[in-house]
Amino acid sequence: MRTALHALTDELRRLRTAGVKTVAVSDETVAVLRQVIQSRKSGPPKAATAAPAAPIVAKAYEPPLPTYVPKPVAKAEVAKLPPPPVLALPVGDKQTRWNALHELVRTDATCLAHLRPGKKVVLGVGNLDARIMFVGEAPGAEEEIQGEPFVGPAGELLTKMIQAMGLKRGDVYIGNIMNWRPEMPTSAGMSQVGNRPPTEEEMRYCLPYLRAQIDVVNPELIVAVGKTAAEGLMGFGAVKTLGEVRGRWHEFAGKPLMVTYHPSYLLRPPVDNRKKRLVWEDLLKVMERAALPISERQRGYFLDK
Ligand code: URA
Repeated sequence: MRTALHALTDELRRLRTAGVKTVAVSDETVAVLRQVIQSRKSGPPKAATAAPAAPIVAKAYEPPLPTYVPKPVAKAEVAKLPPPPVLALPVGDKQTRWNALHELVRTDATCLAHLRPGKKVVLGVGNLDARIMFVGEAPGAEEEIQGEPFVGPAGELLTKMIQAMGLKRGDVYIGNIMNWRPEMPTSAGMSQVGNRPPTEEEMRYCLPYLRAQIDVVNPELIVAVGKTAAEGLMGFGAVKTLGEVRGRWHEFAGKPLMVTYHPSYLLRPPVDNRKKRLVWEDLLKVMERAALPISERQRGYFLDK
């Protein structure tokens, strides 16, 4: 029920962002919601799970960094998708539930229909008891071959970022908003190679798989890397620029959510310490909230000497 309520509130937020002012709700649904509210009022007070948000520290003005603006994809060029799947996982331990989820996504007809020949659907990977979950955008060329997220150049950098936090890649869980590599438009004159960000409809379709992974792993904190991941979690249209939302605590599925830049942004020229430091400051906040040990050396990473 908790997951369903989180899904409902996130969806309502998403609709509000999209400008929807009213939604039609059946009498039956209203009755169920009343029951939930009633049981919450009469139930025992819930212990707070999240620590208070870190204070926002005022910073000196810095000229804006160059922003990466992905090319928009014409709607007509991307096939229409069915409604998002409604997933039911078996009762059992985390591994049993994750295996069932993996089987569901691996055999999902919509995901399969969008794969290039011989390529794989990609679910998240990592420690099912992870305290921290990283969420990226979508599989790229390497990921759709190996069937694992973040194994290409951006993945190598993400692994280094995790190591800089004093963790191993295997300590965290890494997922994506999307489960297949978004295909490039095939209309005349368009390239079929390369990557493009997923559309809102594609993200919506795959979101139940990400929610189910959050439900199984139950991390304490989520870190969204990049604008697409942030939009997928915070609502399409809710993120005008990443600079506005990064470095602050948000919430998704009842979990504290930190947003930072995508590792591929750090790989794009200009490759400089200023960009790295911004990401690192966001990760320091994650470490603080997770009560991970932080050395003086770590605090000073990527500061100009
Ligand atoms: N970029 C992402 O956002 N996810 C991947 O899995 C690979 C690259």
